[in-house]
Amino acid sequence: CFCQLSGKIDDCTCNIDTVDHFNNVKIFPRLRSLVVKDYFRFYKVNLKRPCPFWVDDSRCAMRFCHVESCEEDEIPVGIKGATILQRSSNGGGKEKYLRKANEDCAAHHTELDYLNKTISETDQKNMELWAAHDDALDNFCDIDENDEEAEYVDLLLNPERYTGYVARYAGPSAKRIWESIYLENCFRPKKSFNFNPYIQSGKLNELCLEERVFYRAISGLHASINIHLCANYLLSDSNGMDLVDPSGRWGPNLEEFVRRFSPETTNDEGPNWLRNLYFVYLLELRALAKAAPYLEKEEYYTGNDSEDWETQMAMKDFLNVVKQFPEPFDETTMFRNSEQAEKLKYEFKQHFRNITRIMDCVGCDKCRLWGKLQTQGLGTALKILFSGKFDDIQVGSSIDVNNKKNFQLQRSEIVSLMNAIARLSTSIYKIDDFRHMLR
Ligand code: FAD
Repeated sequence: CFCQLSGKIDDCTCNIDTVDHFNNVKIFPRLRSLVVKDYFRFYKVNLKRPCPFWVDDSRCAMRFCHVESCEEDEIPVGIKGATILQRSSNGGGKEKYLRKANEDCAAHHTELDYLNKTISETDQKNMELWAAHDDALDNFCDIDENDEEAEYVDLLLNPERYTGYVARYAGPSAKRIWESIYLENCFRPKKSFNFNPYIQSGKLNELCLEERVFYRAISGLHASINIHLCANYLLSDSNGMDLVDPSGRWGPNLEEFVRRFSPETTNDEGPNWLRNLYFVYLLELRALAKAAPYLEKEEYYTGNDSEDWETQMAMKDFLNVVKQFPEPFDETTMFRNSEQAEKLKYEFKQHFRNITRIMDCVGCDKCRLWGKLQTQGLGTALKILFSGKFDDIQVGSSIDVNNKKNFQLQRSEIVSLMNAIARLSTSIYKIDDFRHMLR
């Protein structure tokens, strides 16, 4: 069976079998119960930003592309943020959140005052100092949590599944997005450049490690998105469209899975794309292990004390399991041993930021939502691994989370990272389902 994968995962130290077992038995069940917690289910996102690269001509016509954003009273009070809370007259349990927000603000202002002063004495050195303090420079994503047009979306009410965002219903949009990602934003083998946007896996050894990592991460994410749409396919529609099963329900579509991943229909590439899913999963898992000391101390504040306590305990338990997995991916081998390392790191970041911008060109709102969330999650993992800010926090070290200067993650980064790893984990679990069905 083509999806009965085995052996070592390329550019990693572990085997597929080990990951399958570890994920399906330990990680997947924990993530499944974690992402339904209030802290993780509400994601703030702007789905209205125009496409910055081309005229946005193809909105998905399918009703399954629609995303319902939350009414204000549906969002837990602690999540809404300081602005809304300040507007509200009754304090109560919200004081804690306000105090925290004010402290963060005060610390930020002191820092800005200092930087303003040094910048006014301008010279090149001070400019560099300013740049070093600018958090945005560490980000691999072009997503602004304070965007005024951003709205909260309940992820549980808008699940990732088949939407009909395919050429038949939405024109060439989806194809154009993937083409632009691979052709213009992935690193490509120089000697064998051609106009086929999709790199053959055999050519990957012409790329350096960092470039391969970039490609595998994107391809793994692409595989995961497509596995989800196969696993939650519209088996029938009341309008009689796409009738695979006349009883009307969502569920796995084995034929679609085989079409998308079997060697026969993908020029032998499908199994490699599945292997790339395991790769990006290990990359995000490593980021979680690295940021574990920080994430263990996060409050996961929603304003509901018992829910928050449960989330903190569940996160601790989950992170303990993550830490048991021995060094799934060694990021320290990247961006070294080369005079070009800094330049390469800069390009790596710019390419990835561009991909997060391309998400504003996705013509189906549901796909855009999950595309944005998963690229932000991957971007957060890259930030943890490569910004250098998390290098000093060793597992078990006692760190002061209130001192956010060194390792600050915004709420939306934590939410996207956890949901992104949950999506990848679910995909690996679903491959196992398809394996059973094929048998
Ligand atoms: P596509 O998946 O569009 O792929 C185009 C080409 O890329 C293929 O022909 C193949 O040569 C190559 N390719 C395919 N997989 C890989 C891989 N893993 N690695 C490298 N190369 C590959 N549809 C939904 O129904 N629900 C969703 O939630 C959803 N979310 C999306 C999110 C984003 C950001 C995008 C861009 C698209 C999303 N789509 C979603 C659409 C879906 O991914 C497909 O694009 C669509 O179903 C059309 O599929 P296709 O068979 O034309 O091949």
